Amino acid sequence: MADKKSAVCDVAVIGGGVVGSAVLRELSRYELRLLLLERDADLAEGISKGNSGVIHAGFNAPAGSLKARTNVAGLGMIYGLAWELGVPHRKTGKLVVALADEDRSRLEELKAEGDKGGVPGLEIVDETAIRRLEPLARGRWALYSPHTGIISPYEFTIALSECAWQNGARVLLEAPVGAVDFRGGLFHLATPKGTFAARWVVNSAGLFSEDVARLAGIDDFRVFPFRGEYLITDKDCGLRLNLPVYPVPPRDDPGLGIHITPTLEGNIILGPSAEPVEDKRDDASTSEVMGRLKAEAGRLMPELSRVSFIHSYAGIRPKLVDPSGRDRFGDFIVEESALRPGWINLVGIESPGLTAAPAIAVMVAGMIGTKEDLRPKPDFDPERPHRRRFAAMDDDERTGRVSGDADWGEMVCRCEHVTRAEVVAALRNPFRARTMDAVKRRTRCGMGRCQGGFCTPRIVEILQDEGVPADRITKRGGGSRLFYGRLKG
Ligand SMILES: Cc1cc2nc3c(=O)[nH]c(=O)nc-3n(C[C@H](O)[C@H](O)[C@H](O)COP(=O)(O)OP(=O)(O)OC[C@H]3O[C@@H](n4cnc5c(N)ncnc54)[C@H](O)[C@@H]3O)c2cc1C
Repeated sequence: MADKKSAVCDVAVIGGGVVGSAVLRELSRYELRLLLLERDADLAEGISKGNSGVIHAGFNAPAGSLKARTNVAGLGMIYGLAWELGVPHRKTGKLVVALADEDRSRLEELKAEGDKGGVPGLEIVDETAIRRLEPLARGRWALYSPHTGIISPYEFTIALSECAWQNGARVLLEAPVGAVDFRGGLFHLATPKGTFAARWVVNSAGLFSEDVARLAGIDDFRVFPFRGEYLITDKDCGLRLNLPVYPVPPRDDPGLGIHITPTLEGNIILGPSAEPVEDKRDDASTSEVMGRLKAEAGRLMPELSRVSFIHSYAGIRPKLVDPSGRDRFGDFIVEESALRPGWINLVGIESPGLTAAPAIAVMVAGMIGTKEDLRPKPDFDPERPHRRRFAAMDDDERTGRVSGDADWGEMVCRCEHVTRAEVVAALRNPFRARTMDAVKRRTRCGMGRCQGGFCTPRIVEILQDEGVPADRITKRGGGSRLFYGRLKG
C-alpha cells in the first residue's frame, strides 16, 4: 500500500461513467488511496447518460462471453446495490415480442442462450399472456424475462461515486488525462489540475478508452462509435407502459432493435437506432431517424401513433467491430496490459455495460487482489443517504419539510415538482458539479413537458446565490455558456 501521507495514490480510475464509478465504489471497500479523474464538468456525461436505462437479464450475448457473464453477475448485484445507494429502480420484467409465428424460433434461440448462460426465469409466452403483462403490446409470441428492470443510469453513476467518496475516494472533475508517463514504478497522469501518480490505473474512459490507452503506449484497440437516437414522451402522455417491449433482435442490427421502454417517472422512450458515425461526440438527433423510430415502435404498439414527444437524445456505443462487420460479435475487454503491468483497460463496454458495471468492478478488484493483499476497511459504509424527492412525498411529509425549511415550499420546476431545497442540495454535491445539466440529472429540473422553459431562470438565480457568477454558468461545462454579457444595467 502507498504511504497515506504521500501524494501517490494506489489506484487512479480514468473516467467517471457508470463503469469507472462502480470500480471506484468497489475499491473503496479496501484500504486503498483512490482517485477518479473525469474529463467533463460532471459524472455521467458520456455513454452513461444516453442509454435505455434497462437492467438487462443477460440473454442477448452468447453464453460464456464476458458480456453475458458480467451481465448475469451484474443482474444479481444491481438491485441490491441500487437499494443500498437509494437509486430509483424497478424490476419490471420485459417482453421480446415476435409479430409472426415464423419468428418464434428466434425467441427460442434467445431463451436457449439465456438458459445456457444462467439467466433466471425465461419463458416463452403466447398472445394472451402478452396482453396480460402489457396491454399496449402486440405480438403472437414473446420471450418473457421476469428479472429485467429499469434504473436511472445517471443517478446510479453519481450515487456509486458519492458512496466511494463517503468511503474516502477522491473525485476530480474537469480533469482530462492528457499525457501518461511511467517512471519510478508509478504512472504519472497529467491533467490541467495537476499530475497525479498512481501504482495502478483503471482506464474506463468509455468511447475514449482507446485514446487513453494510447497515452500509455498501448495501441491495441480500435473503438467504432455507433449512434443510438431516442425519442421520449411526456410522462402524462396518456399511455402507461408496464415494462420494456423489444422486437426480435434484427440479425443485421448492431443493437437490439428499436424498443419501447418506460421510465420510472412514467415517460415512454422509443429507440435506439444504430448508425455508425465518424465523430465520437456526434450525438445529434436527426429527423430521418425520428420518423423511423415512430414507425418501428408503432408496429409493436400502435397506440403510440397518438402521443407526442417532448425531447430527443442520443447515446454512442463504443463498438469493437467496424461498421462492415455488423453481424460479428465484439466482447468486452477487461484486462491488465501485458505491456504495462498495473494498467487495466476496460474497452468496448457497450450494452449491457450499465447492468454489468458492478460485476466488472468486482473483476477489476479481483485483478488487483491477485497481485497484492487488499485489506477490507472495517468501517466501509455500503449505503448512501437516501434522498426523498418532494414529488414522491405525501402531503404530511411535504408539510413537515416546508415547516422546517421554507425552501421546500418554493417550486422551481413545475413540471417535475422540484423545490428550491432540492436544487440547492444538488448544487452542494461533494464534487462541486455546478452546471445546468448537473442540476437536471440530480433533480429532474428541466426534464418535464416545458423542457426547462420555466425553471431555467430560477436555477440561474439559485446558482448566483450559491456564488456562481452569471457569466460562468454553463449547460455542461467547457464552452457551453448560457450568457455572454449584460444588455442593460
Ligand atoms: C444507445 C445505448 C443504449 C444502451 N442501453 C443500455 C441498457 O439499456 N442497459 C445496459 O445495461 N447498458 C446499456 N448501454 C450500455 C451502457 O450505457 C454503457 O455500457 C455504459 O454507460 C458505459 O459506461 P462507461 O463508464 O464505460 O462509459 P462512459 O459513461 O462514457 O464514461 C467514460 C467517461 O470517461 C471520461 N473520459 C474520456 N476521456 C477521458 C480522459 N482523457 N480523462 C478523463 N476522463 C475521460 C468521459 O468524459 C466519460 O465520462 C447502452 C449504451 C448505448 C450507447
